[in-house]
Amino acid sequence: MKFLEYQVKERFKAAGIPVPDGRLARTPDEAALAAGALGPVAVKAQVPVGGRGKAGGIKLARTPMDAKRAAGEILGMTIKGYPVREVWCETAQEITHELYLGLTLDRDARKPVLILSAQGGMEIEEVAEHHPEAIAKLHPDPWRGPLPFEVRDLIFRAGLGPLQAQLGPLIIKLYALARTYDALTLEVNPLALTRDGGLVAADGKLEIDENAMFRHKDLHGADESDEDPIEAEAKRRKLTYVRLDGSIGVIGNGAGLVMNTLDLVQREGGRAANFLDIGGGAKAEVVHSALELLASDPQVKGILINIFGGITRGDEVAHGIIDAARELNLKLPLVVRMTGTREEEGRRLLQEAGITPEASATAAARKVVELAATGQR
Ligand code: GDP
Ligand code: MN
Repeated sequence: MKFLEYQVKERFKAAGIPVPDGRLARTPDEAALAAGALGPVAVKAQVPVGGRGKAGGIKLARTPMDAKRAAGEILGMTIKGYPVREVWCETAQEITHELYLGLTLDRDARKPVLILSAQGGMEIEEVAEHHPEAIAKLHPDPWRGPLPFEVRDLIFRAGLGPLQAQLGPLIIKLYALARTYDALTLEVNPLALTRDGGLVAADGKLEIDENAMFRHKDLHGADESDEDPIEAEAKRRKLTYVRLDGSIGVIGNGAGLVMNTLDLVQREGGRAANFLDIGGGAKAEVVHSALELLASDPQVKGILINIFGGITRGDEVAHGIIDAARELNLKLPLVVRMTGTREEEGRRLLQEAGITPEASATAAARKVVELAATGQR
């Protein structure tokens, strides 16, 4: 789950990480009021992606009239597919230098990694590519967290020794915040050095591990309406679903089998519209729910169901398919492959209902790709 800049900055503030004063505005007039109270401001588009500056989503405004005009322009924008509904107006900073400070998970090292660079402002991937020597990293022990001497060493390696007294406590606070929120990434870019010598978080990004959301029920992330509507619906139905960009809807039981089915579809010249695993022992209602979900996706031109019956029973799945196809008045080509527990009974039921099960997964993939391409049933 991703958060908007102002939501991240509220959390920085609560954790004692310095941020500029700011106000949220949903209209140009609200932005003018904010500038009236704060003085010169940076007017910033609130969308859950980076690169807003380059896209024209950040403008400096000296007066309330300037802020009103800037907000008017930014509120009409769409940045990387996200319509801008709010702007964050914050006291403009006199930035003399931009640093980078971030934390993410290093899967190779199996540890969190703190990243610090004196070359902030731009994307860290670019710095890493062109000036890898400008990036200093620290892999703290995940149980005890970063120790003060390790943090000092990190700061010196980044060439930021003179800022040690300010940076040290800030890094420790950022790390604690990342742990509190089960962050996959927490980033301050730029961490701005201002004319008066202070450090202030001029930007903030936070992404929380979806698997830890049960620990953060009180949190609300970036607007849910920005999420893919089918993925959101799958989540409500508690289905294990991932959106892909093809036209063949795929349902299977077991992640490995579904992945394999995606490959088969690809090999037969098609492209899967999704990954959908109904799991082991799937009951008729789950099959019904999965089929209904895929049928509601305008991108889907044909559906392939691949079931290997272990705990999952063929007859149970067949009932789900037949009921769902009838109730949904399914107009799409539907191809089924079913083996394993109670396969004879399942196949018989399907055949009686006019759905011919295919003999092999390969044959089924070929058939669905063919039918979807010609628009047959
Ligand atoms: P991003 O482009 O989405 O990462 O948005 P940022 O919040 O990082 O802003 C991009 C750039 O705008 C920063 O690197 C700064 O150079 C500039 N910027 C943002 N806020 C201010 C500010 O208050 N004063 C000044 N002078 N520049 C700012
Ligand atoms: Mn930034």
